[in-house]
Amino acid sequence: MNSPPAKKRVVLLGATGSIGENTLRVLAAHPDKLELVAIAAHSKWEKLAAIARQFHVPHVGVFDDAAFAAARAQPAAFPPGTRLVGGLAGLVELAQLPAADTVLVAVVGTTGLEPALAALAAGKDLALASKEILVLAGKFVLAAAKKSGAKLLPVDSEHNAVFQCLEGHPHAGVRRIVLTASGGAFRDWPAARLAHVTPADALKHPNWSMGPKITVDSATLANKGLELIEAQCLFGLRPEQCTAVIHPQSIVHCLVEFNDGAMLAQLCPPSMTFPIQHALLHPARAPGVDAALDFTKLLGLEFRPIDDTRFPLLRLARATMHAGGVAPAVYNAANEIAVAAFLAEKIPFLAIPAVVEHTLAALPNFEPTDLAAVLATDTDARRLARLHLAHV
Ligand code: NDP
Ligand code: MG
Repeated sequence: MNSPPAKKRVVLLGATGSIGENTLRVLAAHPDKLELVAIAAHSKWEKLAAIARQFHVPHVGVFDDAAFAAARAQPAAFPPGTRLVGGLAGLVELAQLPAADTVLVAVVGTTGLEPALAALAAGKDLALASKEILVLAGKFVLAAAKKSGAKLLPVDSEHNAVFQCLEGHPHAGVRRIVLTASGGAFRDWPAARLAHVTPADALKHPNWSMGPKITVDSATLANKGLELIEAQCLFGLRPEQCTAVIHPQSIVHCLVEFNDGAMLAQLCPPSMTFPIQHALLHPARAPGVDAALDFTKLLGLEFRPIDDTRFPLLRLARATMHAGGVAPAVYNAANEIAVAAFLAEKIPFLAIPAVVEHTLAALPNFEPTDLAAVLATDTDARRLARLHLAHV
């Protein structure tokens, strides 16, 4: 008698967020193929407990000290026998669990870097949503994957799309890739109106429902900037081979142009369940969680060039790609500080690019030879960006 195919055992870091919730929908739809063995979040331990009960998850990580203590004081909230771990060390431990095959990192920002490197070092496949990690330390993440032979599977929808279009195609045949951008909340706003936008305005994304940081990044187009850097790193491309176009419908997620001018595109409705499922089941395919495109209805696909003058963070991202070294890491760190300050209503929307530009200008660029140098630059950039907040 044939034994049933083994399930992929998944660790989900950032389980309580937007990517986390979409991942849970994929896991719930494929209990015969996927098994959740560990989850972690920053502080929403009650939500983690509910997920642990629903999916019978044996390992739970809580990053924040106070939330970890609160969770430990309520063992009855978790399924009997649940192991609770805390802090960054806890996340790293979960990323290396012997009983896991794939680690999905969907922690906002760069906190997931160490767990991601630990997962790759332990030979786990890494499904990566946290683009900031690649912008901060892409070459070290790629080196870790190469060393252990583990797979690095992009979850970011555009990169997952490029990954799908490139499979089976020799790298040398690629002329360029085109990432699509919805254009964010202010796609059609004139420049003059941008001076007065509020966090509530920026959080109204036209197509995608996502966490607050990435939604603001979509409104400034820093998200597309981070994604161009992410693509350059993931697919080993030159800066000029990584391009972007506005596509308001968010149905085409990328185009890959080959040397002969032919293009391949990847299409699906704007739901993260598509790339998440692709990354978790790769290379297998299975019925999707959300309905596919329906061609019995009118479907318009529109593309227009991006106006860099309204979105300086995209221009700055391109400059960092050409500069190389730690420039993308500085861009990412300063952007994180500026976005947090904007969301806390401490700086206006247009100050976000100003903080990033100042911070980039203030720090010398160099080619890092080890991770410690990148992390030190990240710390310096955050400190300088915080200083600049007071002057914008
Ligand atoms: P959310 O803000 O919705 O969720 C963030 C998640 O990270 C939460 O589970 C949060 O826990 C957790 N978290 C934050 N800090 C820590 C920490 N120090 N330790 C452990 N967990 C932590 O973000 P998104 O889901 O929108 O985005 C997650 C990542 O995925 C980002 O890097 C984003 O750029 C990327 N991404 C997101 C897309 C989307 O559609 N949302 C699309 C493509 C990429 P808690 O709830 O307890 O605070
Ligand atoms: Mg994306």
